[in-house]
Amino acid sequence: MTAQIRPDLDSIPAYTPGRSYPGAVKLASNETTLAPLPAAAKAISEAVDVVNRYPDNQVVELRAALADFLDVGFDNVAVGCGSVALCQELVQITCSSVTDEVLFAWRSFEAYPIVTKVGNATAVQVPLTHDSVHDMDALAAAVTDRTKLIFVCNPNNPTGTAVGAAELTRFLDSVPPHILIVLDEAYYEYVRLTDRPDGVELGRTRPNVVVLRTFSKAYGLAGLRVGYAVGDPAVIGALLKVHIPFSVNRLAQAAAIASLEARHELLDRTDLLVAERERVRDALVTAGYRVPPSEANFVWLPLGARSAEFGEASAEAGVLVRPYGADGVRVTIGDPAENDAFLHFATDRAVCARFQD
Ligand SMILES: *Cc1c(COP(=O)(O)O)cnc(C)c1O
Repeated sequence: MTAQIRPDLDSIPAYTPGRSYPGAVKLASNETTLAPLPAAAKAISEAVDVVNRYPDNQVVELRAALADFLDVGFDNVAVGCGSVALCQELVQITCSSVTDEVLFAWRSFEAYPIVTKVGNATAVQVPLTHDSVHDMDALAAAVTDRTKLIFVCNPNNPTGTAVGAAELTRFLDSVPPHILIVLDEAYYEYVRLTDRPDGVELGRTRPNVVVLRTFSKAYGLAGLRVGYAVGDPAVIGALLKVHIPFSVNRLAQAAAIASLEARHELLDRTDLLVAERERVRDALVTAGYRVPPSEANFVWLPLGARSAEFGEASAEAGVLVRPYGADGVRVTIGDPAENDAFLHFATDRAVCARFQD
């Protein structure tokens, strides 16, 4: 006889990992193509010598370094096993009943519906605008007295679109202060808007705002799993309570500290990536695709019902991209050669004819 498992888990959409196979160009998971910096690799290999010991469960050194970097207090920072773990922990600290609502735009980050369900809460999804941008008025209008948590993914994964500081500020000020608002800034380092919203700044005067950032994207450490939350000490203290003990391992802590020290080198890399993003988008637009302006390390092709087919065709051409249901296809920006491989496929005349109206 099989043990009884929570029946509501049956409805959790299975997480679809980015596909991978030898020789293919992998533009499916928003990873950094470049290898870690030598300083990070050195810190990792030094930490290897002490992996017989548990890591620091309080992550003191990294939290102190982040607090210094962001000019916030030590007790304003929590570190998680990737910021996706922090997403789940944020549901855990705010929701205690299935009638509690977690509000977010859709389509957005795939983890939000999953962590909401795992946390035994109810997801409320608000459609993006026709231009694949957060509809902040609709989001504000969807707040009820059951709303406990709001995820705002900015820039939005998978569409790449971002809302500016003025619009975001208006939204934050319209939400009742007892509701926790999560500004998920996983792609913060790639934003080049003149009105660039900085969640840490917005959160300074708003104790119900918590910001998530990660070492997985611009800092190039996706394989080590380190993300962090910046917020009011009450929120951070609660996150520490539900944190899975020792889940941020030694190698991850060491690499994150080294990467933070070497951030200027890493952030120079983002300038190159942003230039490539604009080059790829321009080429796709010229070839006739609709591509919303992106502020992240990927672009979005709203291909609707043809998304899966486009993903298959691209994989057959040796380039793995990520189709999302009948909504669109997300294409990560890689190095120039990888981007050229994708453009070679996508701007082919037969492909354009097949996937455009
Ligand atoms: C990639 C991503 C994250 C975080 O990833 P971790 O690797 O778990 O830090 C968080 N939010 C969004 C929207 C992302 O795209």
